[in-house]
Amino acid sequence: MDHREQWQLDYERLITTRAELDRILKLTDGEKKASDALRSAYPLKISRHYLDLIDPGDPDDPIRKIVVPSMAELSTRPGESDDDVHEDEAKYQPVPGIIHRYPGKLLFIPALGCPSHCRFCFRKGRKVKHLSEDEGKAALDYIREHKEIRDVIVTGGEPLYLGDDELEHWISSIHAIEHVEIIRVTSRAAIYVPSRITEKLVAMLRQYRPLYMTFSFVHPREITPDLERGIRMMADAGIVMLQQGPLLRGVNDDPGVLKELYEKLVTLQVLPYYAIWGIHSPGAEHFIVDGQTASAVVGALENQTSGFCVPHLITIARGDKVRMMGWSPEQAAAHLKNRPREESSTPSSIGLMHGAPHK
Ligand code: SF4
Repeated sequence: MDHREQWQLDYERLITTRAELDRILKLTDGEKKASDALRSAYPLKISRHYLDLIDPGDPDDPIRKIVVPSMAELSTRPGESDDDVHEDEAKYQPVPGIIHRYPGKLLFIPALGCPSHCRFCFRKGRKVKHLSEDEGKAALDYIREHKEIRDVIVTGGEPLYLGDDELEHWISSIHAIEHVEIIRVTSRAAIYVPSRITEKLVAMLRQYRPLYMTFSFVHPREITPDLERGIRMMADAGIVMLQQGPLLRGVNDDPGVLKELYEKLVTLQVLPYYAIWGIHSPGAEHFIVDGQTASAVVGALENQTSGFCVPHLITIARGDKVRMMGWSPEQAAAHLKNRPREESSTPSSIGLMHGAPHK
């Protein structure tokens, strides 16, 4: 008898070959070529649940753009190696599994691996990898030794790619560190595999409150009844939930789409926190929304919905994040680009999010 849980079975049934995807979705010639050309650098990986959300008759379907490889990913832009998040990570990695950029908080990455590859994300090509026992000890020791750390962001992607026991090992160890006041878990996994939110998972997470769950939705159609059930379980368990996700051209750069997304999330007690504009990742330039549009689509929500349905619009340059309070996106990006490197470690800087795009 198979004792695996449904989410484990769902993780095993991911679509990873062009032939399989073509059978289900009927790929265009461009999508076939892109899937083949990107097979090693950015392999395709899509959950069956997410595939079911795609309208196969619409080649412009926003959900399709999120996961199906496209020829646009083969285009490069000048200076692409200076992507805003990826290369910068290594500089702030004192030990494997830790990214420590700002005072008071750091990222803890127990594993790399996602139940689908988001075509906009710089992590879409990362191989699945878990921290070894020694690496994990060193990472926890690092947090213990840095008594200024009050906020630990457990990210990846993908924390929810781990099994419950492994995840609890990390979360309970962090929770036991006296100076750590809050833990955040950032995830997109349940959007791909809603069965990942189980009663057991929620019961485990609730023990380590104050624990914040941060989701990264990009489109209202991602909020399915299955997922709503899981999110409601988290709300009932007293887990505070936030939304931070990227603005993506052709996917959600539309006030109507964002309004629907944020209003739905708020009914589920998930508070919109960040809308992220302008992250440059290799092969994802076609998703970049221009600055004026970013300001306009988020600005259009003001006074059109409840105030807490309107997230902060932020951008990232060289890994640093800035809220665009009264600034145009271009002014914010120029500010970050021009300031000296050391300044980015001031307490006013506000950290890196899961998978940057996400994660
Ligand atoms: S956005 Fe998250 S789930 Fe998607 S590829 Fe990046 S890390 Fe993985």
